[in-house]
Formats: sequence, C-alpha cells, structure tokens
Amino acid sequence: MVHDNPAGTDSRPRILLAEDSQTSKAMLTKYLSENYRLIEAKDGEEAWQILTADEHIDVVITDVNMPRMTGQQLLVKIRKSPISRIASIPVIVMTTANDSVDKNLAFLNGANDFLTKPIDVMELQARVNVHYKLSRTIRELEESRHALVEQASTDPLTRLRNRRSFYDQGAQQIASVKRYLGELSVLLTDIDHFKQVNDRYGHQAGDEVLVKVSNLLGGIVRNGDVVGRIGGEEFAVLLPETNRLGAAVLAERIRARIEKGEIVTADARIRVTVSIGMATFSAESVDTFDELLAVADRRLYLAKNSGRNRICVSDEGKSSFA
Ligand code: GH3
Ligand code: MG
Ligand code: MG
Ligand code: MG
Repeated sequence: MVHDNPAGTDSRPRILLAEDSQTSKAMLTKYLSENYRLIEAKDGEEAWQILTADEHIDVVITDVNMPRMTGQQLLVKIRKSPISRIASIPVIVMTTANDSVDKNLAFLNGANDFLTKPIDVMELQARVNVHYKLSRTIRELEESRHALVEQASTDPLTRLRNRRSFYDQGAQQIASVKRYLGELSVLLTDIDHFKQVNDRYGHQAGDEVLVKVSNLLGGIVRNGDVVGRIGGEEFAVLLPETNRLGAAVLAERIRARIEKGEIVTADARIRVTVSIGMATFSAESVDTFDELLAVADRRLYLAKNSGRNRICVSDEGKSSFA
C-alpha cells in the first residue's frame, strides 16, 4: 500500500535519492515507498541542497554518474560536513556491475554500503532497512545518553545546575581563566532565615520560594553566567569575564530584587531576603575553584553576621568599594 499523507503528517522515514535516470528512480520508488518516503534529487548538487535543508533525512541512496555533482563528490561533501547529523548519515552508493574502481573509491570516501545495478529488489529493501534501523538506534542511544547527562547535572526542583555540575563548571572556568588571563567572579547567595519560612508556611511553600528565587536569579544574570543550587537554600552564580565592580553591582541588584519581590503561593504572600558573599579570582590569592568559593563563603558568613539582607564583597565586611 502506498501512503499518500500530506508531507507534514507523513511519518515514514525519509530517503534522499540522488539519481539522474528516470527508470532507476521509478524502480526504487516503487519498491521502497511502502515503508519509506522518497525525496528525489536529479543530481548531487540538488541532493546536497535538500540534505542541508531537511533535518529529517534518514538514509541517502546515490547514483555515481550524475551531472553537476557526482555521487562521489556528494559523498565526500557529506563526510566532511561539520554538522554531525549530515556527516554520519548512512549513504548507500549504486554502482554498475563490475565497476570495482567506483566501488573502491566510494568505500574510501565513506560509503556505508553498495547496490549493484541492475538492482535486486530484495537486496535493496534489506540494505535500506538495515541502515535505517542502525542509524535510528545510534541516534536513540545518543539522545538517551544526552538525557542522562542532563538529568545527572540538574537539580530536580529548580532545574538549575546541581552542586556537582556547578563545581565542574567552576573548575573548567578557573582553568581557562589561568590559561587566557581572563577574569572570573562568584557569588554565594543564601536565603535569610529560611527555616522560619518552612516553619511558618510549610515545606511546600518553602519549595515554591526556592523555585521563585531561582527563576529570579536566572532572569537577572547574563547569557554565559552559570547559576547553580549548591545547597538547600543556597545558590551560586559564576560570572565569567566579570571583575569585582561588575560582580558587586550584580550582587546588589540580586539582593534588592529579591527583597522587593513578593512570592505569591497558593495561600500566602511571602517575602524573603538573601545574603551574598562575593569573590573575584584576580583579586584574591587563590589558585583553585574551591579556594575561590571558600573566600566567597567566608564573606557570606560576614554578611550574615552583620545583619543579613546584605552583600559582602571584601574581608573587611564592607558592602561597597570605599
Ligand atoms: P540563615 O539566615 O542563617 O541562613 O538561616 P536559615 O534558616 O536560612 O539557615 P539554616 O541553615 O538554619 O536553615 C536552612 C533551612 O533550609 C533548613 C531546611 O529545612 C531548609 N531547606 C533546605 N532544603 C530545602 C528544600 O529543598 N525545601 C525546603 N522547603 N526547605 C529546605
Ligand atoms: Mg547516472
Ligand atoms: Mg539560609
Ligand atoms: Mg544555608
């Protein structure tokens, strides 16, 4: 049975067929279109255009001799592509019987498989099925690996980076700061008297506060800054290429925004404040990310001890650069 769904709803796997011969095209379409949607290109050039534009092509079948761009040239272009979807796509090359030169060259150019003309129908279907299933399996494995990595590095409540992932990022950035003499600041942000929020409004409302505070943090920082939840009610922000002044300005903006904001939960309006400790790589005599965090943590402690709802940017406990 031939599917005749409109293009948008056609869920059949897509095969790009690069072939200049009408008879060969008609034959492949006849035997593959029950299970696959064939997209035809009249030469390598057109096939390349289609392949770069259509992200859903699963398998490429190509003839060798075609005008403008040959199958071999197309194959080379595919394997050299910087886009991994294209570079790794299965390519089946159709060669004429006994043409071992073409076959050898296609093999060297990275062909996955061959079909010899005149084409045997069963062989055609078997080879296409194998390559489609193999590439789909590889793609699924890759996607689930990616999802697992994401899951392992994300805090489930706030969707921010978790402690481990934040520390990994910090260590990486310290390495690059040392190599390229860049700058890096870090802010440690702890919600004040959060235990009282839980005691008064319940743990559920406490969780909502944590989510709102994390959204607020995410909304204030720039692209490229990294926000993590590194403890129960403790958040950290990595600020690449940000000096003491820039980091202090941001810290104060965060503090003020949270103080001003009201967190509306199902049955309460909650206000919280935060205390923030700051450290900047070039300004401290530190060598590692852990040491940089220790400086910020010391200042967070100072901010807490000097009354909370404040930022501390130096060991003197001042909140400004006087
Ligand atoms: P301080 O101003 O000194 O930081 O006081 P605090 O009450 O915020 O600090 P403390 O460390 O004594 O208490 C932190 C509280 O955060 C205790 C804990 O129950 C609560 N907490 C930690 N993780 C979670 C969480 O995931 N959800 C909720 N709702 N509460 C949490
Ligand atoms: Mg041809
Ligand atoms: Mg706290
Ligand atoms: Mg705390």
